[in-house]
Amino acid sequence: MVTSEYLQTKYKTLEDVPGLGPAIVKQLRSVGLHTVEGLATATVGEVTASGIGEATAIKIIETARNTIALKFITAEELAERRKGMKKMTTGCSSLDAILDGGLETQSITEFYGEYGSGKSQLCHQLCLAVQLPEEKGGLNGGALIIDTEQVFRPDRIIQIAPRLGLDPKDVLKRIVFAEAINSNHQMILLENADEVIKENGIRLIVIDSLTGNFRSEYIGREMLAPRQQQLNKHMYKLLRLARAFNAVAAVTNQVSSTPDAYAGSQPVPIGGHIVGHRSHTRIYLRKGRSNLRVASIVASPFLPEREAPLRITERGIEYTEEVAKGQEVKP
Ligand code: ADP
Ligand code: MG
Repeated sequence: MVTSEYLQTKYKTLEDVPGLGPAIVKQLRSVGLHTVEGLATATVGEVTASGIGEATAIKIIETARNTIALKFITAEELAERRKGMKKMTTGCSSLDAILDGGLETQSITEFYGEYGSGKSQLCHQLCLAVQLPEEKGGLNGGALIIDTEQVFRPDRIIQIAPRLGLDPKDVLKRIVFAEAINSNHQMILLENADEVIKENGIRLIVIDSLTGNFRSEYIGREMLAPRQQQLNKHMYKLLRLARAFNAVAAVTNQVSSTPDAYAGSQPVPIGGHIVGHRSHTRIYLRKGRSNLRVASIVASPFLPEREAPLRITERGIEYTEEVAKGQEVKP
């Protein structure tokens, strides 16, 4: 079992927590709360949805929280805790450079861009990068990928593995995959993911694409508010899982083709303020000539706006001398 260094739980399972009888545990499971980490980061509303009364809900969340220290802390303690945060390589040196080392655990990174810009390719590569040992920039963990567009290809994983120094024989075993057929299914998958994350030592959660299902199902102005509400709930759950398991959360997002008076000709990511606020780091991927691409940091609380050239080849997404010179070279 992998416990995050961030949230140290005193108890292994919900059954171990004092005061949680089998009946309550069963009710919690019915709403997708399978672990102590899940319960500690749950809202009262989520717990009462299982039929548990409000007073009990408050009490058991509190008990679970007490076991993992989610209280007020001093900034000094925060600094100490942040040491538990890790960076994970993207497997592409130019992208790592603009990210100051890679993707951060305990937060959401969003990749947006038009069709064919390389978002899904990058998701494949991240599912490998997380498996690398820490000294090679990985988290020595597994990946969970929720695919909403039927684009995930195990063959592609096997093809990229050797460049990252991973044995193609082993890499698929450490990737847990689920296909989300609609937005509701997508949300349910994530709401029930805590156990699979814990059991498989998952340190990377990918949703490709975060917004696709929502965009195609919630059509028209009057559907905008409910769509945003659901997206917000979905991303909040993702964030809590990333925090509970000290994992990287990476999502992809499409861009709107509708011209926006404020944005001018700049492509606008879907999901408005909700997605923007919940994503701590937003990276815009755009197409260059042939297989060249440019990734740029659009919003980050701690990184300057910078650009990284890269290319997509059989070997995955990478940066080489030729890319730096803007040359197109096929291996
Ligand atoms: P997005 O998800 O942003 O729509 P993708 O990640 O699917 O875009 O990127 C598609 C691009 O990746 C295409 O330009 C395609 O040529 C390239 N690509 C996909 N697989 C390979 C491969 N095996 N070798 C080289 N390029 C590939
Ligand atoms: Mg895609």
